[in-house]
Amino acid sequence: RKVLYSGMQATGKLTLGNYIGALKNWVNLHEDYDCFFGVMDLHSLTVRQNPTEFKQNARRIYTQYVAAGLDPKKNCIYFQSHVSAHAELGWILDCFTYMGELNRMTQFKDKSAKHADNINAGLFTYPALMAADILLYQADLVPIGADQKQHLEICRDVAERFNNIYGDVFTIPEGFFPKAGARIMSLAEPTKKMSKSDENVNATIYLIDDRDTIIRKFKKAVTDSEAEVRYDVENKPGVSNLMEIYGVVTDKTMDQVAREFEGKGYGDFKLAVGEAVADMLDPFHARCAELEKDKTFINECIKENSEKAAYFANKTLRKVHKKLGLVERI
Ligand code: ATP
Ligand code: MG
Repeated sequence: RKVLYSGMQATGKLTLGNYIGALKNWVNLHEDYDCFFGVMDLHSLTVRQNPTEFKQNARRIYTQYVAAGLDPKKNCIYFQSHVSAHAELGWILDCFTYMGELNRMTQFKDKSAKHADNINAGLFTYPALMAADILLYQADLVPIGADQKQHLEICRDVAERFNNIYGDVFTIPEGFFPKAGARIMSLAEPTKKMSKSDENVNATIYLIDDRDTIIRKFKKAVTDSEAEVRYDVENKPGVSNLMEIYGVVTDKTMDQVAREFEGKGYGDFKLAVGEAVADMLDPFHARCAELEKDKTFINECIKENSEKAAYFANKTLRKVHKKLGLVERI
């Protein structure tokens, strides 16, 4: 069976974009693949975290993975920091990644412009750690958004470089783009993607938002000066984004959505989108609350899965040590 690897940074709160673009598509992949889903908390350290909030966010993401339908008995869901092989292979791959390659990364350029007071070495070598995440599990497939494409290219290059020197050690992973790969845009600036690190809370629907908050945010969403619900990303990015969200959530095509709101104003339309999203999140919220009330199940899954992940990761790490000529433990 093929192996699939994916994860999210444990920075902040998951958004509707993360849900529609990633999480929702991960569910049921375990029917066809051996799946590993990480909560990538080591990656989050490239930005300063408040320890209390950080722990809360990371645990919440784990719970949200499960509440969204990932089955921790069939998928390996774990915290990156619980498997020390990530940091260990990360260092080794640092030594096989060139400064010139890392210099070209647009995420490094964007993030260092945004955090000019904290351009740390971790932010720069991020792609080497991400390569380790994937290669440790000999992943064949990595579902990612377009924003992560450059990083996956480095991962493949580094793996090939290593294999060329030491023989077949790593599986070379392929990017995997789920069919419904909707790219959800910001509600405030619909030409920018919705992102959990956006400072404008009205731009983003968080998965923890309640019904009233969701409806209020959709009511405020930026549209245009026309009054026609028509799909036209170029000229009507705000309306088109709302149509896409509505379409994914209610399983309708853009034509069907346009017909449904023919002759209706933006007010009615936005309310309908808000209600559809809130309806979709109702059972998700109920499941989250249930899992949080009694933490036994989640805690048990965290323990079991970190051991399982470590077993696979250490197998690869031992192989790497041997190939490199590091002295065996006695
Ligand atoms: P950050 O701002 O911290 O980078 P993010 O919202 O971009 O946060 P990531 O942890 O970088 O989240 O990405 C997690 C997953 O969610 C990735 O697979 C990414 O492609 C997907 N994703 C992120 N934002 C969107 C979006 N607006 N629409 C669809 N998919 C998205
Ligand atoms: Mg991102």
